[in-house]
Amino acid sequence: MRIEQSATRDFTYPDLARAIPVWPTEAITVAAKQPVSDESLRITRALQTTLDTEELLETFYKEIKKLISYSGLSYSNIPQGIEYTVGKAAPHACAYHLVIAGESLGELRFTRRKKFTDQETMVIEYLMCSLVYPLRNTLMYKHALQMALKDPLTGVNNRVAMDSTLQREVELANRYGTPLSLIALDVDRFKRINDTYGHANGDRVLKSVASAAVSSIRSTDIIFRFGGEEFIILLSNTAEEGALCLAERIRQRIQAGKYMCNEAMISATASLGVACLNKGENVHSLFSRADQALYRAKSEGRNCVKLA
Ligand code: GH3
Ligand code: MG
Ligand code: MG
Repeated sequence: MRIEQSATRDFTYPDLARAIPVWPTEAITVAAKQPVSDESLRITRALQTTLDTEELLETFYKEIKKLISYSGLSYSNIPQGIEYTVGKAAPHACAYHLVIAGESLGELRFTRRKKFTDQETMVIEYLMCSLVYPLRNTLMYKHALQMALKDPLTGVNNRVAMDSTLQREVELANRYGTPLSLIALDVDRFKRINDTYGHANGDRVLKSVASAAVSSIRSTDIIFRFGGEEFIILLSNTAEEGALCLAERIRQRIQAGKYMCNEAMISATASLGVACLNKGENVHSLFSRADQALYRAKSEGRNCVKLA
């Protein structure tokens, strides 16, 4: 099989849209049973019905398929972590890097077994004009939803995200009998850090505490900022030994981290409480046991890990 792919071209809207001829009628007369202007309007309407990126791409894939024979549509937006394919990927590709007002919207690839003709490419480019704004709207919506669940200072999940996630993970662990552990972390004598170095530097310390924890956990573990200088780390499929080991690693990383402030080195430590889900236990009880273990860590000298 000969694999041939076109290089990815920039599709800069509206600049390129202006350069595309009004509608390359002859290229689609066979496939389109309706007048072409109706097709374009129908596609535009169909794309306005959703704010979900995947649903939008699926609709676009189906609508284009009514006009041009192709087998797969792939969309990739690395910064937003989206990789999505509708249909079946094939060796020949017609690929575009989508740009609106200098902002990249990711890459779109149309694929099939045989090479796309120039006329077909022209039709695709024409129809992409209907996609760019609805696509940008879905991306903005997705981003807004994600941001609503993030803590703006540290970038980790916030308390809103924590409440629903904890409930779900505890239910799953109880249903499938899988281990689940929770770590409660609180920065030691943080008020003193604020008082000595100022609130802005306190914020920097909080950020580095969060990154020390983030860099220690696995992709399946989830971290939340619970309140001021308190964090919760949820470890799915992790029993006592693994949870204690991870808590200790986080404690050491926080202690080792240093932050420079006006010639002075700011260092911080944290106390951690670990609790592992008992059979049939609810969120409230698991959380409160981790909190009690954290309280013990504080009262027994701070900068240590205690198990509930
Ligand atoms: P302990 O070791 O007992 O935990 O002592 P602590 O000083 O850390 O505890 P305390 O609860 O007395 O103080 C927490 C401080 O955290 C007080 C509050 O001003 C500060 N804080 C809470 N949120 C933020 C924030 O977002 N940024 C900064 N810089 N400080 C914060
Ligand atoms: Mg606290
Ligand atoms: Mg504290």
